[in-house]
Amino acid sequence: MGHFINVILPIPLEKSFTYAITKAEADFLKPGIRVSVPFGKTKIYTALVLDIHDKAPSAYEAKEIHQILDETPLVTTEQLKHWQWISKYYMCTLGDVMRAALPSAFILESETVISKNEDIVINDEDLKDDEFVIYEALHHQSSLKIQDLMSILDKKNVLPVIKRLLEKNAISVQEEIYEKYKPKLVRYVKLSSKFSSEKALQNLMEELSRAPKQRDVVMTLFSVSAQTKKPVKVTDLSSESGASSSIIKALIDKGILEEYHIQIDRVQYDGDDNEDSKQLNDYQEIALNEVLESFENQNITLLHGVTSSGKTEIYVKLIEAQINANKQVLYLLPEIALTTQLVERLQNYFGEKVAVFHSKYSSHERVEVWNNVLQNAPTAQVILGARSSVLLPFQNLGLIIVDEEHESSYKQFDPAPRYHARDTAIVLASIFKSKTLLGSATPSLESYYNAKQGKYGLVELQHRYNNVMMPDVELVDIKDKHKRKRMQGHFSDRLIEEMTETLKTNHQIILFQNRRGFSPIVECQTCGHSPQCPNCDVSLTFHQYKNQLRCHYCGYHTVMPKTCDACGSVELDSKGFGTEQVEQEVKALFPDYNVARMDLDTTRGKYGYEKIITALEQGEIDILVGTQMLTKGLDFRNVKLVGIMNADNMLNFPDFRAHERSYQLMAQVSGRAGRTKERGKVLIQTYNPYHNILQQVSTNAYVEMFEEQLNERHIYKYPPIFRMIKITLKHKDYNRVNVGADWYARSLRTVFDANVLGPEFPPVARIRNQYLKHILVKIPQKQSLAKTKEAIIKINNSFSSVKDFRAIRVILNVDNY
Ligand code: ADP
Ligand code: ZN
Ligand code: ZN
Repeated sequence: MGHFINVILPIPLEKSFTYAITKAEADFLKPGIRVSVPFGKTKIYTALVLDIHDKAPSAYEAKEIHQILDETPLVTTEQLKHWQWISKYYMCTLGDVMRAALPSAFILESETVISKNEDIVINDEDLKDDEFVIYEALHHQSSLKIQDLMSILDKKNVLPVIKRLLEKNAISVQEEIYEKYKPKLVRYVKLSSKFSSEKALQNLMEELSRAPKQRDVVMTLFSVSAQTKKPVKVTDLSSESGASSSIIKALIDKGILEEYHIQIDRVQYDGDDNEDSKQLNDYQEIALNEVLESFENQNITLLHGVTSSGKTEIYVKLIEAQINANKQVLYLLPEIALTTQLVERLQNYFGEKVAVFHSKYSSHERVEVWNNVLQNAPTAQVILGARSSVLLPFQNLGLIIVDEEHESSYKQFDPAPRYHARDTAIVLASIFKSKTLLGSATPSLESYYNAKQGKYGLVELQHRYNNVMMPDVELVDIKDKHKRKRMQGHFSDRLIEEMTETLKTNHQIILFQNRRGFSPIVECQTCGHSPQCPNCDVSLTFHQYKNQLRCHYCGYHTVMPKTCDACGSVELDSKGFGTEQVEQEVKALFPDYNVARMDLDTTRGKYGYEKIITALEQGEIDILVGTQMLTKGLDFRNVKLVGIMNADNMLNFPDFRAHERSYQLMAQVSGRAGRTKERGKVLIQTYNPYHNILQQVSTNAYVEMFEEQLNERHIYKYPPIFRMIKITLKHKDYNRVNVGADWYARSLRTVFDANVLGPEFPPVARIRNQYLKHILVKIPQKQSLAKTKEAIIKINNSFSSVKDFRAIRVILNVDNY
């Protein structure tokens, strides 16, 4: 009797693959252990054992494995169960899930490129012979593919050697260069070294006697640094001396003070400032008890608490209880990079028990977190992570918290698995028979609907912490303002008044404009032509700073032309406006204040985002202009006014979720205003102040919004009433996409009839020279989801077997939120 294993290969194969093993190997192997295997004529892969059996495959002769790579499973049986669900539910292969879950250093294959670790010194005698040969080879060539190493060592079975070298840290796997977790940059000041002599200092103080405020600052600096004997933060100096940041800036500009930055690494917790968790107020206490009660008969509970109601402190209490019970907790966040404040807060409470995980970490860092979670290490009891951390090897998971559960970035778009981290987390928790808490000030329609249906528990927290009032929202009719000539550029007189007032009282302002660039579209006044991207069907966006036209889909850019490409006219005008233009107008309106901009363009560089956040925290920025990046969980004490420059372009976005999203976005940005005693103010500029969504934002009427939107979803058959699967066809040939999409949709209609929509070109129908066409399948609640998917897969298989269609890429996206 032969022995065999079925394995998952990290490639998109529909079925698991079978290999032959010996009796001894069969006794040793368990599901979740890695083996290196040959594949095809020349390839080798790292494969993952799925099961061990004695049935030879009927369609092909099973090859033998090369080698076993692990002593104990790297992937748990709970994970394998979870992966099966993901692959079935999101209609992708187990190989897709494996690739998304495992750090690349865990899945070596013939195509993997490795290179020497230059910053680590390895003694030759620490290397075995075969390791030495590879190490030497990398000396002469900076990087090599694993298949090259196969010929250098003249054997196929090389993965174990590579694995040993990786463990010795001698080499690393090349991958896209990811930026590491961004440390916080904190600004410090010291007296310039010019004044280190007694004499120079005396002269300085004399000179400053004519500028008493500046003199005070310098004196304060002396006393603070004498007291603490530590570097002095700009913020501390400002609060101690009572001087504004502009006075300190003047001293820096004069060269009297020198500023410098110290990186504060938030991943490396220094164990110094361990805080006790806060005592909850009555409302929080009640909400916490309601959550616990609801968990008695519900596995999933939604905590709907207005912005700044103190949801995080409630999570903290729940985490504490899990830690005391020795359980692991997963705390999901929409985007780690945008929530450094929260990371810091949790580390203050839980110190080194917190591990942060992010798919943009280097493979090395991900491997470390993986191993810690797998070993149930005390340093990984609370995992704080974005989407992909639901794929970690938890051992005894007690609770999952999904913060800001409404955020669309929880859904992965590309590549497969196109999973939704919230829904995938719920399934993960159920595998461990543990609970999931969803939290948001503006829940997704899906979750609130599920709660209303009794599928989830629901806990409401309506009071802001400390009785801070909800901001006062004012709608400004800019159509009317234009008519009465009360606009300066894109600023209404009301907005300018409020800004002036806010600045006078030393508070900060956030201006929100949901578009980057200077003005989205350039249009010729003579012939109406507007420059288009050569690769995508979309108009180019004008970026004044670089005097460029850029494509936001593919990155194409070109110099802004002086004349119209079509007719040669010089009258090129801009339509609409972006963050860059807002920033420029603010600078002209308020020249005495510090203005900064936060969008993809200004935060791209290293620490770009960190610098802006820190500058705002430290009071160096008076007015911050930004895109939706601003909405994410930021907590700034001193921001009192939020201006939304134009609500209409969000509301008019061509998507069935546009209204829901607009409400969430505006409610969340508004939540940034006035988080302390003083009531915040929000001004929303719009051409249509009577729009229901705007009325609902201004009265904080979430439930009314929910009911109205749900009614629309009923009428137009959209989620959460109907489920949806989106099928996208992609090819560079326009006709082929058209013919293929028609065939596909026709086949779907024979099964699903009127619940098939399309095929239709999306608003941007060509991206990177590929034409796209969408087909939507709507699934009524009573229809079996599993049967629906089976039928789609059948059609998909017939489609791929048509010769003309084989080259068309088909993307299946389940629950395309
Ligand atoms: P949410 O997550 O609901 O927006 P947060 O948890 O961020 O609200 O709380 C808002 C602010 O109130 C934070 O600065 C937080 O530190 C503070 N806060 C909340 N609850 C308490 C409490 N029980 N004691 C002291 N401060 C609290
Ligand atoms: Zn023209
Ligand atoms: Zn483009």
